[in-house]
Amino acid sequence: MCGESPTVSIDPLTDDTPIGDFKEEWYPFLCDAHCHAHDDKQRLDEIQQLRTGHITLMGVRQDDWETVEMVAASSNSSSSDNNNNDSTTDVDSHSRCVPCFGIHPWYVYRLAPPQEGDPQANEEGVKHQQQQQEHYQHVLDGPDDTEKQQLISQLAAPIPFSDWYPHLEQQLKRHPHALLGEVGLDRSARLLPGGAIEWHGVKPTNVVCDIDHQCTILRLQLDLALQLDRAVSFHCVQSQGHLMAILQSINQQLGKSKTVTTATATTSVLRVCLHSFGGKPASLDQFFKWRHVKVYVSFSIAINARLGWKKLSQLIQAVPDDQLLIETDLNSPTSLDYNMVCIASLVAQAKNWSLHDTVMKTRQNWIAFTGVE
Ligand SMILES: [Zn+2]
Repeated sequence: MCGESPTVSIDPLTDDTPIGDFKEEWYPFLCDAHCHAHDDKQRLDEIQQLRTGHITLMGVRQDDWETVEMVAASSNSSSSDNNNNDSTTDVDSHSRCVPCFGIHPWYVYRLAPPQEGDPQANEEGVKHQQQQQEHYQHVLDGPDDTEKQQLISQLAAPIPFSDWYPHLEQQLKRHPHALLGEVGLDRSARLLPGGAIEWHGVKPTNVVCDIDHQCTILRLQLDLALQLDRAVSFHCVQSQGHLMAILQSINQQLGKSKTVTTATATTSVLRVCLHSFGGKPASLDQFFKWRHVKVYVSFSIAINARLGWKKLSQLIQAVPDDQLLIETDLNSPTSLDYNMVCIASLVAQAKNWSLHDTVMKTRQNWIAFTGVE
């Protein structure tokens, strides 16, 4: 039985008959492990009306953290008002929306790392035109130097370490249940002209952010997660080797810290989620071998359906039952509920679980991953 694909005559990605088994009363137990519903500014009010029980809302840049904060506050207060009865638990009423703060790999090119040995000089220094030039010359790469230089001349100033890092720390401290996310590594992303952030309909340049810079910024963000004992939601595209190396070193660091020092980490196990994972099924195994880094994997219709059922079902099967999560990765509340039911149904078919068991197991896993109480 082990390793066999479920026998299905029709493609589960196009056949939505099985979602007919979903019962209305299961909605409160659905947990979306990764979404950006707040990106749809016209529909912020609809987020608190979602039937999906819990969402994990990802902040990706300093300028969207405030919206994440506001949506989480209104979702959680409205749910404790409405659901103040015996049938709901604390998890249900206080964690309808788990806020997450981080800087996404698409935007880390703007972040300055601390200047070695002289962090004070950074804030003043990086404002200078010359240092701005040096920063972008160093962190950006491209096959065409003319294009790179033209892009650099259009970019806003880099953000000093003394600005973004304390801001992230403050956001996480202000929200004791917040996660670090969305952070990660992406070797395929290319900058947009002028450093625009809206991807729709704009032809990207050929300029990319250097992977070493991405790793430096990721490691700094992860240090905060370790210090504050927070779980992390990861974006990882074409950089599995680099991510492995970072998580491996954290596993070693946490293994040693018990006997050496606990000054830099308040946790003994870092919980991470590889969101909308699309790598090779066989490559997943290596993420599940650590004692001090527990890796969850989540899947979405929006990103993972394009893999095709054969690969997607193999990926889902490759994740241990207690480390599997479901998500939408949607940037609007519109059709979020439907996407959740669809991905739950696909997981049920791949794992050969009932739809109800899938909802309840992924909920248990989400509670363990986020650490909500
Ligand atoms: Zn995302």
